[in-house]
Amino acid sequence: MDLIQVENALKKCKRCNLWKIRKNVVPGEGRKNAKIMLVGEAPGKEEDATGRPFVGRAGKLLNSILEEAKIKRSQLYITSVLKCHPPQNRKPFSGEIKECLPWLEKQIETIQPKIIGLMGNTAIKSLLGFNGITKMHGKTIEKNGKKFLLLFHPAAGVYNAKLIPKMKKDYAKLIEFV
Ligand code: SF4
Repeated sequence: MDLIQVENALKKCKRCNLWKIRKNVVPGEGRKNAKIMLVGEAPGKEEDATGRPFVGRAGKLLNSILEEAKIKRSQLYITSVLKCHPPQNRKPFSGEIKECLPWLEKQIETIQPKIIGLMGNTAIKSLLGFNGITKMHGKTIEKNGKKFLLLFHPAAGVYNAKLIPKMKKDYAKLIEFV
């Protein structure tokens, strides 16, 4: 399967109950051979409405942090652990993550990025099996031949502006993989 085929299959997914209430599946977007992949938690309301990842307030903050790091969104592939919007932005249920994770794994296998930026604890827990963004942010971890950079989720900076300087420092580490 190539990336377009994965995205097209994803758009028809009914593996968990979120398909019943979504407006749009949000598979992700970006370069099919991106060297940097960013993974968040789940689409929010605006992402659900548009079918595009990170277009709301958190997305705008992400854009400005990337811009400061001299990285263009068009150079990346951006997606989330879940591809459908959980109601009221609640945390994804473990059953939903279990059903949806194979899609993310397929995207990673297809794109083969040099670095995977895991934004927030849901992405870290889903792919690495632990929580630890507060102590571990900015660290790089290798697992199964893949390299991961632990990053705060952009929404964390929206709710707590004091985190933004730390976020800028951590996201700037992505530039060496461009
Ligand atoms: S969240 Fe994932 S598993 Fe659930 S319906 Fe959407 S694409 Fe399928």
